Amino acid sequence: MPAAAAAAAATASLSREGLLAALGPDWLGLSPGQAPCLLSRTPVQLSSLTLIDSWPSYYRLRGLALESPAALLLDATLTLHTAVARLHQQLCSLHRQQRQLGGTDRQLPAGQGQAEAQEGRHQQPAGNRRQQPAAAARPLPALPQPLVLHLIGPQRELDAWPLLLELGCLLPPGQQLELHLIGPEVPPWAHGRSVRVTAPAEGPCGRPGCSCTNAASLGSPQGSSTDGCAGSQMLFFWRGEWHELAAELAQRHGAPHAVVAPNAGLAAYMSWVPTLQHLLASMQQAAGSCAGSAGAGESGSTGRGISADGGCAGPPMCCFTDFNAEAVHRARQLCEHLLEASGDGGRCSGSTKSSGIRLEAGMHAFRKPAAVLAADHALPSASNGFALWLTARPPV
Ligand SMILES: [Zn+2]
Repeated sequence: MPAAAAAAAATASLSREGLLAALGPDWLGLSPGQAPCLLSRTPVQLSSLTLIDSWPSYYRLRGLALESPAALLLDATLTLHTAVARLHQQLCSLHRQQRQLGGTDRQLPAGQGQAEAQEGRHQQPAGNRRQQPAAAARPLPALPQPLVLHLIGPQRELDAWPLLLELGCLLPPGQQLELHLIGPEVPPWAHGRSVRVTAPAEGPCGRPGCSCTNAASLGSPQGSSTDGCAGSQMLFFWRGEWHELAAELAQRHGAPHAVVAPNAGLAAYMSWVPTLQHLLASMQQAAGSCAGSAGAGESGSTGRGISADGGCAGPPMCCFTDFNAEAVHRARQLCEHLLEASGDGGRCSGSTKSSGIRLEAGMHAFRKPAAVLAADHALPSASNGFALWLTARPPV
């Protein structure tokens, strides 16, 4: 197994325009009006991340006609976006806890640039609005900079990696993103290589008939990001098992903020067990260290309640998707079994009998809208059809 450090550090820098010119105008086989515009970022606020919660909402945001087959190509990318949105919800939840525990504004780092008026109105009982007028002006916690995501077990995502750049078009301006594709399926020649892609432009790209001209805006943009490499997106490719590479990658790039494994087959392949054991252990560490960082938010200039800036040892968020509900159910059972077998329950949370990791399973909103026919069962099946979410839960 080649170590990450042994890999040649080869980074290619590409502009989005240059990449699309190299791919050709028909690389997706879709007309400009039916394809997502990778050159254009649709204005979106932090508080709007969770509003992209279905294919119709995504289509509206990106100016795609409902008859566009783009969803057939983007289920993995939108799964990553869902992980980011959930991560931000978790950050917001931690900050609310800090406010409640601290009772003063000092718990929130200043200068995050995003008004919290909307979140404040939603979270506060009506009777408290007059008593806490300052809360409406508090900023939402920013996403970590850079945001580090791990995509474990990529397969078709490897060949179609430019589609992952759509994620950068759905994040707030200035957001730095590191997306690591990790798995034995990564070809040897790609191990250790990376690609830096420029940020998408603000507003329409100017190409006639492009979908971006119809894009909806989810509120006004929260700031400018046109300088330097602000908002750039980096993709890294690592060949090997995640549990064998995770420690070194964390040392070099920081612990991931979210780990996503599309169509994992978690309970079907025993090869997942060591990765899952390592992942669960690191998430438990994350829960424990996040407990410490939750109270340290006032000193954090980055606003990372859950972060890789020294706070957490592992990812606070993880998602395994699968084709059908039974597979996700068995994946959940496997996770629960491993957590029980670890004999570590309650070490991090202290407040519950659980391991500090919350499990949540269900149908995934961004499943590929095409059925997968199986000869051995008649269960509804689709690529990324169902999801198991694991969330590190610090004690309250
Ligand atoms: Zn465009």
